[in-house]
Amino acid sequence: MRFRVLVLLLLLSSATANLQAQALVLDPLIQGAPLGKYMSFWVDEVGDADLQKVIRQADWLPSAETVPNHGLSRKAFWFRLQVQNNNRLENWLLEISNPLLDELDFYLVSDDGLLLSEHHMGIARPNSGRQLVHRLNLVPLDMPGDGHFTIYLRVISHHSMQLPASLWSMERFIEHSEAGSVVVGMLAGALAIMLLYNFFLYTAIRDPIYLVYVCGVCSFLVLQISLKGLGYRFLWGEFSAWSQVSTFLSAYCALFFATTFAMWFLKLKQRGFRLLWAINLVRYSAIGALLMLPVLDRYWNLYIVALLAISVICVGFIAIFTYYKSGDRPIKIFIAAWVVFLLGVLLYIFNKLGWISVNVWTEQTIALGMITEMILFSIALGDRINTEKAQALAAREKVLLSLESEQEEMQRLLQIEAMELNAKELSLQVQLKNNAQLEQSIEQRTGDLRQAAEKLRELVRLDPLTQVYNRHFFNEQIAEHFETAKHHNRFISLLMIDVDHFKAVNDQWGHAIGDKCLCAVAARISRLLGDTGHKLFRFGGEEFVVLMPGADPKQGYLLGDAICEQVSTVNLADQSGPDRVTVSIGVAGFTPEASQRSEQLVGMADTALYRAKQSGRNRVQLALENGGQLRA
Ligand code: GH3
Ligand code: MG
Ligand code: MG
Repeated sequence: MRFRVLVLLLLLSSATANLQAQALVLDPLIQGAPLGKYMSFWVDEVGDADLQKVIRQADWLPSAETVPNHGLSRKAFWFRLQVQNNNRLENWLLEISNPLLDELDFYLVSDDGLLLSEHHMGIARPNSGRQLVHRLNLVPLDMPGDGHFTIYLRVISHHSMQLPASLWSMERFIEHSEAGSVVVGMLAGALAIMLLYNFFLYTAIRDPIYLVYVCGVCSFLVLQISLKGLGYRFLWGEFSAWSQVSTFLSAYCALFFATTFAMWFLKLKQRGFRLLWAINLVRYSAIGALLMLPVLDRYWNLYIVALLAISVICVGFIAIFTYYKSGDRPIKIFIAAWVVFLLGVLLYIFNKLGWISVNVWTEQTIALGMITEMILFSIALGDRINTEKAQALAAREKVLLSLESEQEEMQRLLQIEAMELNAKELSLQVQLKNNAQLEQSIEQRTGDLRQAAEKLRELVRLDPLTQVYNRHFFNEQIAEHFETAKHHNRFISLLMIDVDHFKAVNDQWGHAIGDKCLCAVAARISRLLGDTGHKLFRFGGEEFVVLMPGADPKQGYLLGDAICEQVSTVNLADQSGPDRVTVSIGVAGFTPEASQRSEQLVGMADTALYRAKQSGRNRVQLALENGGQLRA
């Protein structure tokens, strides 16, 4: 601003020499050239001056720039352009290529002060009122022949007081306009494509950030078509209220969505960015200003937009410098896009505020920045999704790997467990085998022991000399069988056998022969008993007993008789012994009663034996029943 004022002061000082800008000579070569240098301007401080008053004005100042740029101003500006039509050219057009002027009044005045034509344009007025409907301000110059003409332009703008004016012949303008429209259409089309593309991406991916991005692109698209006059020309030309605010409205939306998106993309919240509050302030201020649009004086909007944009740009650059190095690829792409875009916006704002002059580049910076940014954003967004997908895949792979290693570990543990189990089973088998062997050997041992015990028991039962049962075993057997006979009410008989004159045998043949004699007697009786179940016992000395469970005394008697006979055949003469041995036998037998004892049976047999001895030996005597009345 200061710079502009300085320029103005310099110009004023030189204005004393020539306050009049030189007249423009209409020539085909002038076509398309900016006309600023041929213009003079006058500021209507109050805003009520009419053409007559303006024509009379003396304090016109020449415009210093090729494109007059007076920044932001509430005032009405009058511009004057003097034209010399030497060539009698017809069908000329005046183009004012700033479509954002609120009011633009055109007056063509002849040299003698006659108003030849007038046109009223600007976005504060409906598009249909224009003579030439175009996105830019176009006025046909109907100059009747040769001579001097003066063009007066009255301008009011709430965007920026810039007047890029040029003259065209109709034919050249059509060519130029076509090319310009293509460029502008391409820019808008590129944005529209980005919008649709990202919208479809959003419908496919459903990530809300895409929606933010789509809204951002949408805002930029509206801003772009507003700035280029396309919106006014094709969409809202009849709605002047909207036409006057569409740029600010879309700029606020763009500010909000772009900062929201940037905030999310750079993960400023998660990274704990210190100036996050400033970004939020800008975001909410943008929303606030947007809501205030219907009531706030439009004059302030450009300043608010500029302030917010410059704030965002400053904070944006701080964020960029902070995270550029730490960022991954999508962040670097994003930052590159931002730098291009922010620089574009910065240049544009400076230009609109009148701080830098208008040229081809300043007009296109924001559009180029926008397109570059949108494309790079889209790439960055795609890249980010890829990165996130790759990260998710890597995480999944990591999980799989850890699962695999866990599985391996499990398998290893299972193997160890199986090995342990095998070892246990093996040891169990060994143990079982050992146990079986042990059991077998124990069984064998037990059998052996049982056999040994049996043998021992047998040995204990036997008389060592004669090998028949001994007295000890007899005691057991008689007690047992006596009780059994008692219980079953059965007979039990007993034979008491005594070798006759045995003392004499000993005395005559010696004890050894006496023993042999005893053995021979025992053998004969045993052979006779056979398997009858009757047992022979050595009762003591040269006495033997035969126990006959279940046999009555008669059977006993018969057996005793048979024994006597058998024994009597013993002949030991060949062994230097007696040639005949005899025995006396006492037999007793009865069915024992409960009160009776086995000793009674033994005693009765013994008594009968005594009687056999008494009655001559080598015979059998049956015990007497009931006090010895009966005898066999
Ligand atoms: P009796 O006909 O009256 O029975 O006359 P005895 O000589 O057989 O009877 P006595 O009781 O007088 O004699 C029994 C003898 O038997 C006495 C003893 O020396 C002998 N004697 C006892 N036991 C044995 C033995 O184991 N071996 C030998 N050789 N003699 C024995
Ligand atoms: Mg005897
Ligand atoms: Mg005897």
